[in-house]
Amino acid sequence: MQRPPGNSIASRDIATYLHSYTNLKKHETDGPLVVNGGRGIYIQDEAGKEYIEGMAGLWCASLGFSEERLVEAAIAALRRLPYYHTFGGKTTEIGVDLAEKLLSTAPVPMSKVFFANSGSEANDSVVKLVWYYNNALERPAKKKILARTKGYHGVTVASASLTGLPNNHRDFDLPIANIMHVDCPHHYRFGEPGESEEAFATRLADNLEKRILAEGPETVAAFIAEPIMGAGGVILPPAGYFEKVQAILKKYDILMIADEVICGFGRTGNMWGCQTFGIKPDILVCAKALSSAYLPISAVMISEPIYQAMVRQSEKIGVFAHGFTYSGHPVSSAVALETLKIYEERDIVGHVQAIAPKMQKWIRSFADRPLVGECRGTGLIGAIELVADKATHAPFDAKLGVGAYLAQRAQEGGLILRAMGDSIGFCPPLIITGDELDEMFRRFDKALGETEKWLAGQGLA
Ligand code: PMP
Repeated sequence: MQRPPGNSIASRDIATYLHSYTNLKKHETDGPLVVNGGRGIYIQDEAGKEYIEGMAGLWCASLGFSEERLVEAAIAALRRLPYYHTFGGKTTEIGVDLAEKLLSTAPVPMSKVFFANSGSEANDSVVKLVWYYNNALERPAKKKILARTKGYHGVTVASASLTGLPNNHRDFDLPIANIMHVDCPHHYRFGEPGESEEAFATRLADNLEKRILAEGPETVAAFIAEPIMGAGGVILPPAGYFEKVQAILKKYDILMIADEVICGFGRTGNMWGCQTFGIKPDILVCAKALSSAYLPISAVMISEPIYQAMVRQSEKIGVFAHGFTYSGHPVSSAVALETLKIYEERDIVGHVQAIAPKMQKWIRSFADRPLVGECRGTGLIGAIELVADKATHAPFDAKLGVGAYLAQRAQEGGLILRAMGDSIGFCPPLIITGDELDEMFRRFDKALGETEKWLAGQGLA
């Protein structure tokens, strides 16, 4: 590609921006996609071209890109009290309203809510809470946290350590001590030939128990999991997995942490992914759709026993020394509260239940195409995994960038998708209509056809 002209937004971007999750060298010549506006499930670039946002941004803009009520909620909150904090026992009414609302929707009884600004901050806080809790219980050795290969929990030092993807560790000197990874529950990729989902789940639970015993159960504090792994490639747990895993956690007094940053607020067809998969967490983390992404906010809900232990511990030194300048920000809280009201008034969960079969049918309609290995998903989240060999599930050489090629063709065709390796993710705004879903998959179909031709042209498909 040619370098963009000198005074364009693109060239100013190249001159100034350090981009998240971007090939920095390639960006110097390719430049950015400049996004200037949004309407419903669509975004617009600077030339006015519209794209269906098939990923709701980063799995987050659940009410789309033009929800006026959220704008009004932010303005009203800004006028009333543009900022205050929660240190030293301060609070705001809107923050309390939001905490009450969250606790009332929790999938299991929860006691208290801690607010932060992002999924990463929330998960970093969770690591500290787990350690604090075990110090409170005078179990100084019980500090290890088990996460899963291909899990995604963020990019700050502790949350990136929880994340189980090599790129987030390599060159960043991670993971930190006391965070370790166990099996990825992807049956299609890691199941033995002929192994049922149930048998696969049993094997993974056995491995988990062996690992806990090898580490010493007195050293293992918590297990963290997304109900559906998102950024790892939209990986659904095999049948029976969470039931078997939780039985083992219970046996060794290990906390269950649910990272609901993607699944929370209707995405899987229930309010929480925990409900879809029978998870009973001690700690629940949410973000993203909590405010439909209109302002940054995340929340950590903790159970009563955890809270009680923390209270006793904080008494010892007189303070629970954790929290952010913007924890419980009143404007973010107002937008989140309005978001939750909208979900309720419009029965967003009911809408997802009604429309999910169409999306899942569409995803599975590509199963017979030559490059398509696995079609998976539930609710309004899913993925199509492209493979070099459908019989053996062998992946393409990563250097070919097949997934990235398809995502680029889709973008040209007016559809934003995310390639996680060669798994193409679908996670549209929850407000998407049936007609819009049809259009999304027509655009995907075209991009897939172009990818098939490209590979066939190289003799690879
Ligand atoms: N947890 C999960 C499950 C996520 O998907 C993400 C973000 N994709 C995070 C945590 C981190 O959130 P953030 O990018 O807001 O720090």
